[in-house]
Amino acid sequence: MRINQILPMGRFDATDWQDLLSAAIADPDRLAAILPVARNEIHSVTRQYPMRINPYYLDLIQKTNDPCWRQAVPNIQELDHIDSLEDPLSEEKQTCAPGIIQRYPDRVLFLVSNSCALYCRHCMRKRKLGMNIPVEPAAIQKGLAYIAANDSIKEVVLSGGDPLMMSDQALDDLLKRLFDIAHIELVRIHTRMPCVLPQRITTSLVEVLGQYHPLFMNTQFNHPVEITEASARACRLLVEAGIPLGCQTVLLKGVNDQAAVMGELMRGLVKIRVKPYYLHHPDPVRGTMHFRVPLATGMEIMRAMRGHISGLCIPQYMLDLPGGGGKIPILPEYLEQKKNGIWRICNFEGRFFEFTE
Ligand SMILES: *Cc1c(COP(=O)(O)O)cnc(C)c1O
Ligand code: SF4
Repeated sequence: MRINQILPMGRFDATDWQDLLSAAIADPDRLAAILPVARNEIHSVTRQYPMRINPYYLDLIQKTNDPCWRQAVPNIQELDHIDSLEDPLSEEKQTCAPGIIQRYPDRVLFLVSNSCALYCRHCMRKRKLGMNIPVEPAAIQKGLAYIAANDSIKEVVLSGGDPLMMSDQALDDLLKRLFDIAHIELVRIHTRMPCVLPQRITTSLVEVLGQYHPLFMNTQFNHPVEITEASARACRLLVEAGIPLGCQTVLLKGVNDQAAVMGELMRGLVKIRVKPYYLHHPDPVRGTMHFRVPLATGMEIMRAMRGHISGLCIPQYMLDLPGGGGKIPILPEYLEQKKNGIWRICNFEGRFFEFTE
């Protein structure tokens, strides 16, 4: 069933992001009225993991179980809890001040929001989201104090939730306080807004962000249909304000686990001036296990892209180690053996070459 047959065109022609957010679907009965879902199943899932599907993203859904549907519509498999943990990366153990996760010596994650414009079903921080517990200003002050007191921290990654759920004014204050700290060299914002609610990227937001440099932004597109006129415009505004854009795609079963789809996504991103940064292997997070794929799938996708599309389109395939060990890159095997300084190397076409050291 096509969404456009259910939702007359123009029903959600609002462009104000706050209006779009308040029209978002959070209630299973409302969802059941417009999409062919099992109402009871949606109810049981949302009791544990909230739903929020804003009208912009809803319009990207074309049919049952398509890639946008899978990312947005609750699935009864979220309640299968076998072999999963709420926090497999031990983020809670590595939390050293309110909202501050420090795993690496020179940079911290600063979780400044508990809500998002879309509650992605595959979210790796699902344990925290949408429980209507806002991040208190006092907690933000404590996080800032920790960063200010530790001069080994050179970079702050604003994350959450989605930091762009904050008001322009609150973001302005936060960025000002961060850049006032002498040892902070770089600030990065992790946000899905350019993809899931591009109307959030307003000219006034971009004016605020454009005052601060170096400010990098990493977003998350997972399928080529998410690249639209609206998302392209959002990215253009950000790039024109001098904010370099990267993408942290998540490898997801039934969404982008095919090389052709992934390649098309990566080429589409570069066209809108977004540099593919990471392709994340999915983490074994409780409530997201139905998205998991074997490592071999990711390696095959990487092999299929390398050499066949521009090197600019190729992200690093990353595995976040369980227990907080950090992220490591995964590569397909190109180097096959070594004997007396001679390597046997497979090229992008699968042909073998010898390389002498
Ligand atoms: C992913 C992550 C970062 C950022 O890592 P980069 O490789 O620099 O992108 C920082 N801190 C934590 C805890 C992370 O999980
Ligand atoms: S926008 Fe990011 S933090 Fe929010 S639900 Fe999606 S993946 Fe999770």
